[in-house]
Amino acid sequence: MTLCGAVQGVGFRPFVYRLATELGLTGWVLNSGAGLILEVEGESGQLERFLARLEDEKPPAAVILARETSYLGAAGFTGFEIRASDAALEKTAGVLPDLATCPACLAELNDPADRRFGYAFTNCTLCGPRYTILDGIPYDRPNTTMRGFALCEACAREYGDPADRRFHAQPTACPRCGPRLWVEPEDNAGVPPLRRVAQALTQGRVVALKGIGGFQLLADARDEAAVERLRRLKHREEKPFALMMPSLEEARRFCWVSPAEAALLESSAAPIVLLRPSATPGIASNVARFSPYLGVMLPYSPLHHLLMREHPRPIVATSGNRSDEPIAIDNAEARRRLDGIADLFLMHDRPVARHADDSVVRLARGRESVLRRARGYAPLPVRVPRQLPAVLAVGAHLKNTIAIAVGRQVCLSQHLGDLDTPEARAAFERAIGDLCRLYDFQPELVACDLHPDYASTQWARSCGLPVVALQHHQAHVASCAAENDIRGEYLGVAWDGTGYGRDGHVWGGEFFLARDGDFQRVAHLRPFRLPGGEAAIREGWRVAASLLWELGGAGAVPERPERSLLARMLERDLNCPVTTSVGRLFDAVAALAGVAQENRFEGQAAMLLESRIDGLVSDEVYPLEGDQIGDWAPLIEAVRADAGRGVSPALIAARFHNALVHWIVRMARRVAASQVVLSGGCFQNSYLVERAAAALEAAGFNVYTHQRVPPNDGGIALGQAVMAQWGRPSAGRPAGETACATER
Ligand SMILES: [Zn+2]
Ligand SMILES: [Zn+2]
Ligand SMILES: [Zn+2]
Repeated sequence: MTLCGAVQGVGFRPFVYRLATELGLTGWVLNSGAGLILEVEGESGQLERFLARLEDEKPPAAVILARETSYLGAAGFTGFEIRASDAALEKTAGVLPDLATCPACLAELNDPADRRFGYAFTNCTLCGPRYTILDGIPYDRPNTTMRGFALCEACAREYGDPADRRFHAQPTACPRCGPRLWVEPEDNAGVPPLRRVAQALTQGRVVALKGIGGFQLLADARDEAAVERLRRLKHREEKPFALMMPSLEEARRFCWVSPAEAALLESSAAPIVLLRPSATPGIASNVARFSPYLGVMLPYSPLHHLLMREHPRPIVATSGNRSDEPIAIDNAEARRRLDGIADLFLMHDRPVARHADDSVVRLARGRESVLRRARGYAPLPVRVPRQLPAVLAVGAHLKNTIAIAVGRQVCLSQHLGDLDTPEARAAFERAIGDLCRLYDFQPELVACDLHPDYASTQWARSCGLPVVALQHHQAHVASCAAENDIRGEYLGVAWDGTGYGRDGHVWGGEFFLARDGDFQRVAHLRPFRLPGGEAAIREGWRVAASLLWELGGAGAVPERPERSLLARMLERDLNCPVTTSVGRLFDAVAALAGVAQENRFEGQAAMLLESRIDGLVSDEVYPLEGDQIGDWAPLIEAVRADAGRGVSPALIAARFHNALVHWIVRMARRVAASQVVLSGGCFQNSYLVERAAAALEAAGFNVYTHQRVPPNDGGIALGQAVMAQWGRPSAGRPAGETACATER
């Protein structure tokens, strides 16, 4: 667990020691530049009690601002100790994630007698922007984007008073001295900004709002036409939109919200939480038409609270960009880039130092699982099992993040996005400079993906530092192992859509027996071909056709206009890259089951296939034969036969998922490693994760899944940072030549 805030030098460590000992828990606590780090071990009820009392009984001067908790495997501590401080990351003290508005500030915001009544930039030492206003350390007002706002007399008094809630609150402000709000285009009717925005939303307009980590695009979530227009203008045809609900009660009207999910919604990170929608009508169907979830967040800044007061209904709140470019943070940039998308701009004059999208989390195995790590989480460090060299890890290509390793801590950047556009690549380069400057970090080594064409790899190859190129799927499992603090041997299951394999083929259905830097590829899916390459990634029916062709030649390929072209490609082996990807197998099964013929956004077909199971309980399973080479042939035969017989897509989907789970358990038994690690984009699938974890645990294995770091490519940088220590660096080697951890 990492605790940040006023937790150092206030008797916190002795308090933790007493509390843990009293509850009969073992483990340790230490001070690090980033805050307090502690591990407590014991029976789960006692751990819950510890967490509750940690907050309730902490020393009077202690304030916990940010807390991240992970559940780790048992380490077998024999007592509780206060350990020596981590010298690493000394400089990061005070670099905190952005914190949602606290109850005291919210009360002031709503109190007509308070001088901050209705003021959109209210904050205090317990809440407000941090990472997104910081442009240097130490964390003092002159090093934030608030430096241009001189404190008025009243604010200066609060700032200097140790008894005040705003004592040394760097971003503090009030209507007299702080940032102000306005709407563009101007009108002369004198309507207050937030009322005008609420009216525009009600009229079906699209509004760009400058938030904490950049611009958001808003539309009324009940208005099908407005949502459709936003989709068209943003070039986002089907990918689900996130919603902001005015309150937890309202979220409960439209979704099933468990107590743990409610706690996530109301946490200081205030992320988007993926929730199961209830049957209550009222949300436009095109908000998330092809997803089993609704992504929901609550207002997290005073500006959002005030807007929700004027417009107390669910709104679509999506990132302020066109397609997948990085979000706009600057007023002038927003005017230019969002021109033609937004009808109205809600602007302010507090600059945003760096962009941070809204984070996305989900509950998996009863725990928080971060799918997109950005506002509210970045840049809290992840503590890893071993001391690392000074590595800069540049991540993969999609959902890119970067990371720097200092000692035993890895700071992961906020989500940077897909590196497809020049804007995204520029943001990637900016983020590298930014993170290194903020932490005064000098990399000795750069870790990148083995894929020679990734923009991140190319940057690494040209930066002039020694480079270690690491295999994508090994980085996936290394990332999960690191955040779960695993030592010793483990079976790593890395399943995703695409990653560059060591043999030059497209991997994605891999099993590794791993120990330290040694990764032995012990199993993979039987290779198949992707006719048309990229086109087959978008169009799953092509993959289905390719698998059927393997089974029965051209005659087995279903009737389609493109059938003869496809058959020719397969016959002559033209533009048919070979893959072992489980993600692509999902696409093929979705196509054969009649669930989805293509992916309009990454992972769509797999998501739809998972959603079809929808509560169906079945232990039936398709044959997926072979262990070391998982043979999909009998499985595909069975899917085709079932689909032909009119078996429900729900049952087809369940049998398919169960077959994958069986394969994992068989492999775990075969290699007999007691620890199993599940990573890669396929493990964003709740059914697959929950089922696989339950089956493995029932068979006596310890199972590790992602918690603080995404299972998708957003987690690759952490794996690279950890693996670089075992690599043999190369400078100026041709891409593709191995310079990497040992492999057998
Ligand atoms: Zn506050
Ligand atoms: Zn003031
Ligand atoms: Zn991947």
